[in-house]
Amino acid sequence: MKNNYDVVIVGTGAGGCFTALHFPEDKNILMVTKSELEESDSFLAQGGICVLKDKDDFESFLEDTLKAGHYKNSEDAVKLMINSSRNIINELIDFGVDFTNKDGELLYTREGAHSKPRILYHKDVTGKEITEKLLKKARERKNITILTKIMMVDIISENNICGGVVLKDEQGKIFPVYSEYTVLATGGLGGIYENSTNFPHLTGDALGIAIKNDIKLKDISYIQIHPTTLYSEKHERKFLISESVRGEGAFLYDKEYNRFADELIPRDKLTKKILEQMEKDGTNHVWLDMRPVIKKGIDIKKRFPNIVKKCLEEGYDVEKECIPVVPAQHYFMGGIEVDLNSRTSMKNLYAVGETSCNGVHGANRLASNSLLETLVFGKRAAEDVCSQKNESVLEKFEFNEKKYKDTDKLIREYKEIIFEEIEKDKIQKEKNL
Ligand SMILES: Cc1cc2nc3c(=O)[nH]c(=O)nc-3n(C[C@H](O)[C@H](O)[C@H](O)COP(=O)(O)OP(=O)(O)OC[C@H]3O[C@@H](n4cnc5c(N)ncnc54)[C@H](O)[C@@H]3O)c2cc1C
Repeated sequence: MKNNYDVVIVGTGAGGCFTALHFPEDKNILMVTKSELEESDSFLAQGGICVLKDKDDFESFLEDTLKAGHYKNSEDAVKLMINSSRNIINELIDFGVDFTNKDGELLYTREGAHSKPRILYHKDVTGKEITEKLLKKARERKNITILTKIMMVDIISENNICGGVVLKDEQGKIFPVYSEYTVLATGGLGGIYENSTNFPHLTGDALGIAIKNDIKLKDISYIQIHPTTLYSEKHERKFLISESVRGEGAFLYDKEYNRFADELIPRDKLTKKILEQMEKDGTNHVWLDMRPVIKKGIDIKKRFPNIVKKCLEEGYDVEKECIPVVPAQHYFMGGIEVDLNSRTSMKNLYAVGETSCNGVHGANRLASNSLLETLVFGKRAAEDVCSQKNESVLEKFEFNEKKYKDTDKLIREYKEIIFEEIEKDKIQKEKNL
């Protein structure tokens, strides 16, 4: 393996892959993931990906996103995302992504807090379909090297300029990889929580590294709890019951099987209602009934095959009975502060996807906006890098191996400082209210 690349991208989810695919083939790119390629949250996205369905939907798409985000969003970022959405979808289709359609006409679905159906999907495994196709393309490119089971433990930097990353392989060997540009595409932080829909290895490492290296963060206390994950007593990743299930007509019930909430209000509000209901009922879950979806004439085995299968594996036949659901940590709206070109506050360092914060989501993400945001701003990161004059600074950086004698301790420290920063941000926001 070389120790010098034009670009290092940390993370092989949708964000990392789409960024990599937007570099010309004369750029040498290294992509690393701390786990297997299939183990990124991008693979888990069920519901779909938003798109501006037609010009007339612009204002309502904007308003839905801002309203869900409690108007804490960056309006410029949201507008940019919406305006870029159709091109991004066309690119995905060119990459071979197969969105569900009827006789060639794309089908659109709806999720909570969307005033119209504007979400494209592939059954209930949209993220897998997109990310598999992107990974396939990335593997075909001769200029892209992809390594698995390699963990970034730090970045290399001096005088607020980034010059690469410090990596750790499966055998525990620590080594530097120098790069002109570095892109952090490390996803969310669900792994630091007890109950989360995220892969447990997604522990927000890039955030800990950012805090240690004085890189600016933004809104890091904005953490989304998903209202409906399958209730289980097992200590494992919580299985998401996509919002599109409610979008297609499923009902929520209390312990007496009475409806207690409008199922399509924004996620944060519905989560609050469910938690209040659980408290009132003295239960550790509420019920979700998918049978009203069947009554509407929808074949749920075709529309939600993955959810139907998983529920059966857990002992619930959704065609005959309700399933127990409970809120769990799901998404991270805050992150490493970036501008509209995904530049962080450190020179030559970019952040894209869930680990970054460009302000699109405000205080609460609108369903199915995250894959879109990840792709739009990943592409912009690559284009921004390519627009810059290449002044190599790599010879300036030194690597001090001694700092990384105990990386387990370092990772534990990252987790602690992330929670500290979340608390600080929370207190700051309460003061500003
Ligand atoms: C269950 C579930 C359902 C979802 N459904 C939808 C949906 O329907 N629509 C939608 O728009 N969004 C959805 N989302 C959100 C969306 O999937 C994610 O926000 C998005 O895919 C994030 O992409 P990413 O590339 O930023 O991160 P990820 O896809 O999570 O990739 C992160 C990558 O970084 C790697 N990594 C992390 N830390 C390190 C490190 N220290 N060193 C090396 N590698 C590292 C990981 O191994 C991984 O490869 C869902 C999320 C979940 C969990």
